[in-house]
Amino acid sequence: MPAMSATEPSVRGVLAALAALSVLAAARSAAGDRVVLAIGAHAGDAEITTGALLARHKRLGDRVAILHLTLGEGGNPKMSPAAYGEQKKREALVAAKVLGADVYFGPWKDGELRDTEEAARYVADVIRQVKPTHVVTHWRSSLHPDHEAAFRIVEAALLLASLEGFESAHPRHRGVRGVYYADNWEDAEGFTPYVYVDVTEDLAAWRAAATSYEFIRGGISSFPYLEYYEALARLRGAAAGKRFAVAFEVDPFAKRRVLDALP
Ligand SMILES: [Zn+2]
Repeated sequence: MPAMSATEPSVRGVLAALAALSVLAAARSAAGDRVVLAIGAHAGDAEITTGALLARHKRLGDRVAILHLTLGEGGNPKMSPAAYGEQKKREALVAAKVLGADVYFGPWKDGELRDTEEAARYVADVIRQVKPTHVVTHWRSSLHPDHEAAFRIVEAALLLASLEGFESAHPRHRGVRGVYYADNWEDAEGFTPYVYVDVTEDLAAWRAAATSYEFIRGGISSFPYLEYYEALARLRGAAAGKRFAVAFEVDPFAKRRVLDALP
């Protein structure tokens, strides 16, 4: 499958348009009219970084959904990928139930996610089904190739989902008001927190959802997931003048403000 680089100029154009819309829409978003779709490379990525945001929006009356592109089934040295994949899928279903999120599973294998036209078409069709107003995914730079592939797949999929000429099982969707990039320890290069959301009242729901996963509870990876992300929420909260917050990066276009005069 060819890479999506041929469509890059158009992708930039769409992102610029989305960014302009997101600035306009910021004041218009109201509880209950948002649909937040979190897209993660591996089951667990979306919940650990964005679960508190999803819990918050669910509590505000919005619809929330998660797309796991892979199960992240290669991460347990004590289990076969097939057996651990089954476990991860069960854990993902429990986490989604705790968050009140619809959940979708991509067909790819851990470590084999690639920025292909096939992947972009698949994700575009999920976007058309879910009809998100807001999409959260991985930042562009990561230690993990699957995470970088996820960024590029989502970038291309957002464009495809909006195009009349792209035929899939669902009609085109042009309602995405903003794309946000999650604060993931593996995706830290060049990541500068830009948007902070107060999740003080949602941390318990986040913890309940995230700990559906054994790797987050501890014992599989040496990385202290729960402690790291709880401390991160406190750190971002402190910077935002809140108890707990989650922070997101946005595309450089989304930082552009065009005013008639200085505010
Ligand atoms: Zn991951």
